[in-house]
Amino acid sequence: EGFFMSIIMKFGGTSVVNIKAINQVVAIVRRQYNRNPIVVTSALAGITDLLLSTTQLAAQGKLRNVEHNLHEIKKRHMEVVRGFLLSVREEIIPEIVKELRELNSALRRLPRPARGAIPTQQLDSIAAFGERLASWLLAGALLSQKIPAQRVDSRLLVATDSTFGNAEVNFKKTRQNFARKILPLIKRGIVPVITGFIGSDSKGRTTTLGRGGSDYSAAIAGVCLRAREIQIWKDVKGFMTADPRVVLRARVI
Ligand code: ASP
Ligand code: MG
Repeated sequence: EGFFMSIIMKFGGTSVVNIKAINQVVAIVRRQYNRNPIVVTSALAGITDLLLSTTQLAAQGKLRNVEHNLHEIKKRHMEVVRGFLLSVREEIIPEIVKELRELNSALRRLPRPARGAIPTQQLDSIAAFGERLASWLLAGALLSQKIPAQRVDSRLLVATDSTFGNAEVNFKKTRQNFARKILPLIKRGIVPVITGFIGSDSKGRTTTLGRGGSDYSAAIAGVCLRAREIQIWKDVKGFMTADPRVVLRARVI
């Protein structure tokens, strides 16, 4: 059917947390470049939590704390950009700045409920900035090392219902989107770098697939492209004998 066999390579937050980790990701992608890789990324470690707590602060009108957190988010991403080639830096920095500006205004637009919860729709659109930002870094890192890459916002790919915070995927539409937008890139030898975790509903509003959802994004990409393989990369020392959050004496095998 003209489908190119490809592989999905998903990288978690600790894999993209700094330039050293990101360069390791580039090396991993390079080794499998001839297998038509599609990269899916989550947010930098800790950024989704930071975005969500910043949303609370913004809703409480604690603007000074919001400023502080925004500065932290900017710093963490700009530190990585500094490791890129100058030409790539010139391409990526404006994109990062644009995302940050949008994040800033999204936080300012938040309704300020005197009490009670922030609408999940708002939480989703702000949580999405973690992956939106990280994907620029990963694409930039690949380009910096001469691997053709293009960042793709998964809101143009993953069609969902409007269950904010835990959206359901419309696979029919999503499959069409992947065929239209991702296959042409693969055919040209370009590595698509897709934001995990996020999608959009029929009105174009940002949705998320639930916390930790970027592994699921990789699975969605795999199914929609009939990938040969889905790889979930984690920056850990190895498998453990048990969940270390539950079993104190858990150790690496
Ligand atoms: N960044 C999102 C989260 O922290 C999704 C993910 O990492 O899988 O929940
Ligand atoms: Mg995760």
